[in-house]
Amino acid sequence: MSEAKLFILSGPSGVGKGTIVSEVLKEDPGIHLSVSATTRSPRKGEVPGVSYYFMEDAQFRSEIRAGGFLEYADVHGHFYGTPKAPVMEKLAEGKDVILEIDVQGAMKVRETYPDGVFIFILPPSLHELRRRIEERGTESREDIELRLGKAVSEMNYLDRYEYYVVNEDLQGAVADVRAIMRAERCRVRKAEDILKKIEEES
Ligand code: 5GP
Repeated sequence: MSEAKLFILSGPSGVGKGTIVSEVLKEDPGIHLSVSATTRSPRKGEVPGVSYYFMEDAQFRSEIRAGGFLEYADVHGHFYGTPKAPVMEKLAEGKDVILEIDVQGAMKVRETYPDGVFIFILPPSLHELRRRIEERGTESREDIELRLGKAVSEMNYLDRYEYYVVNEDLQGAVADVRAIMRAERCRVRKAEDILKKIEEES
């Protein structure tokens, strides 16, 4: 009977958000992960429509004009956006939804969806973050420096989030995110809404 929740996960590039989310989904396949649109090119192994909806700049701009995004942002010189309709549909169906988006996007979602649960994933150190991005081997040297620079400025937004999780080891981070999700489903927000729902269902 608990209401569907919108979980927003942010954190610097390379921190392991994607891996954490896929582990959470493995254990709880009922959660819907929003697939973002982007104008960046696909990386090796990325599947269109699964990893991202890859779009040309013109198509992305026309989606913006049509009001198709819940939020969008320019990240590292490319557009990224959350298609609005699927998120609204899943929430209306009572399914929890996860958005994996950058801090600019998260702050926009906060304006329209203050009941969202905002979680920030941190690396154990900047040194370790650099190591992980380098190990991934998908970015040019210039891109790595860009992403590390952005990581530092993104961490300044930490106090706008409700939770942080340090991705020291994957299983620990997954357990923390799951614990946050579980606790949030039990949170009392508006007691009268919950009581009304109990009455309706009885
Ligand atoms: P990457 O290019 O490494 O896949 O993603 C770069 C950054 O864009 C990450 O911080 C990721 O969370 C963010 N991002 C991915 N999808 C979206 C989105 O729909 N909206 C916003 N604002 N950021 C996104």
